[in-house]
Amino acid sequence: MTAKPPLFQFDNSYARELPGFYVAWEGAKVPAPELVLLNRPLAEDLGLDANQLETAEGAAIFTGAEKPAGASPLAQVYAGHQFGGFSPQLGDGRAILIGEVIDSKGRRCDIHLKGSGPTPFSRGGDGKAVVGPVLREYILGEAMHALGIPTTRALAAATTGETVFREGPKPGAVLTRVAASHLRVGTFQFFAARGETGKLCQLADYAIARHDPDLAEAENKYLTLYSRVVERQASLIANWMLVGFIHGVMNTDNTTISGETIDYGPCAFMEAYDPETVFSSIDTGGRYAYGRQPMMAQWNLARLAETLLALIEPDDVDRAVDRVTGELKRFPELYQGFWLEGMRAKLGLATREDGDLELIETLLAAMRRQKVDYTLLFRRLANVTSGPAESARTLFQESGPFDSWLEDWRARLAKEGCAPEEIGKRMNLCNPVYIPRNHKVEEALGAAETGDYEPVKKLLTVLAAPFEERPGLEDYAMPAPDDFGAYRTYCGT
Ligand code: AMP
Ligand code: MG
Repeated sequence: MTAKPPLFQFDNSYARELPGFYVAWEGAKVPAPELVLLNRPLAEDLGLDANQLETAEGAAIFTGAEKPAGASPLAQVYAGHQFGGFSPQLGDGRAILIGEVIDSKGRRCDIHLKGSGPTPFSRGGDGKAVVGPVLREYILGEAMHALGIPTTRALAAATTGETVFREGPKPGAVLTRVAASHLRVGTFQFFAARGETGKLCQLADYAIARHDPDLAEAENKYLTLYSRVVERQASLIANWMLVGFIHGVMNTDNTTISGETIDYGPCAFMEAYDPETVFSSIDTGGRYAYGRQPMMAQWNLARLAETLLALIEPDDVDRAVDRVTGELKRFPELYQGFWLEGMRAKLGLATREDGDLELIETLLAAMRRQKVDYTLLFRRLANVTSGPAESARTLFQESGPFDSWLEDWRARLAKEGCAPEEIGKRMNLCNPVYIPRNHKVEEALGAAETGDYEPVKKLLTVLAAPFEERPGLEDYAMPAPDDFGAYRTYCGT
């Protein structure tokens, strides 16, 4: 008899190369592992056999109860600024990295379990997760991926058969998440706060090998690594802003070196356009409001800069400060550049004209005053490039400001030298018709808590093709009904 091939072809660089950066740790045993969702296309991209994973063995692995062959499970250590206050010791308190695989494009990916039981970093927490927040992260992450935004992704969701207490008894669950890496600003902060420069250097070299291998032999490689992280974050946050995504917990431990969105907790998509929008119940001061996200990302990048000073100019701190500050100062311009290009595309503009920013700002100001649904308006504008404007106009309570803006926009479109239908088509490729609408997410999660996963599956199918309008899905494209009320999200920890 030939031996069964292993489910995962692990190659665990973090475990191998970074002793002292983690604690080897295994998931907790659980009473009744059950696989509720498997992301088959992602499994295939990762070179995994989806059929082999849809088994009792797969369910046990995806709850952390069983260690797959070749895994080196571990809890990573990190620190982080949470809502502005520094916690020198965070780390994976309810998660483990089980190993790394190389995907079909040759990219190294972390396979990580969230909710797999307590670790030495649990700080009094139970180390568990519950089905609602697990599926929320699954849905939001897949939606972001389909929108073309760098993100960690969900490979599987499994229930444990345990009852976990949050605001009441809830079904316990574990999310299996795939990431380019779990290196965070907070990982650097942990070693910087302890003055462990040797380890910082090792960490920065590991980050370069993993995310910017072209820098390995570069002069000033640590400064250039920093500059790359600044660019990736500027692009990422511009992407968030362009789709109306609000992360909700932009702490430095949730800010990646890879530039992927990570840790979908109390995040949600904005409906009515308003830069002050906050959904998270714990963000009482509005620190991470929609409109403050670029500024907060820059703040987080300043914290990363502080950790790298000793690597950049070991003998001259003042010079190191000057150099990182020079990079950090590029953030607003980089961000604005990405955002403006994205906004132009949303408005069907492939060329650049001086008045474009003003044109965009005039529209946003009218939308804000009249609480216009952000996603719906941009989607409907594609129909308005030439034909009747009614579908967009009805989103404004008072049509005057929109009509005068429309005249300016159409005059600007005329300079594109392109048929209006063509412009409409390309707008539809960047203005989603379907986003994870808050009431739809809640409806699906409510059903899942009672054991009915069909609404979650349906929502995932809708969100997998966000730019492709399909008959029968009209209610997925509409904002929450008035009786849904003001939306609040919870961390779900
Ligand atoms: P988060 O808000 O999910 O980014 O988590 C912040 C920190 O709290 C991380 O160190 C987590 O591992 C930890 N944490 C969150 N929830 C729990 C939990 N239920 N048990 C133990 N640690 C947790
Ligand atoms: Mg986190």
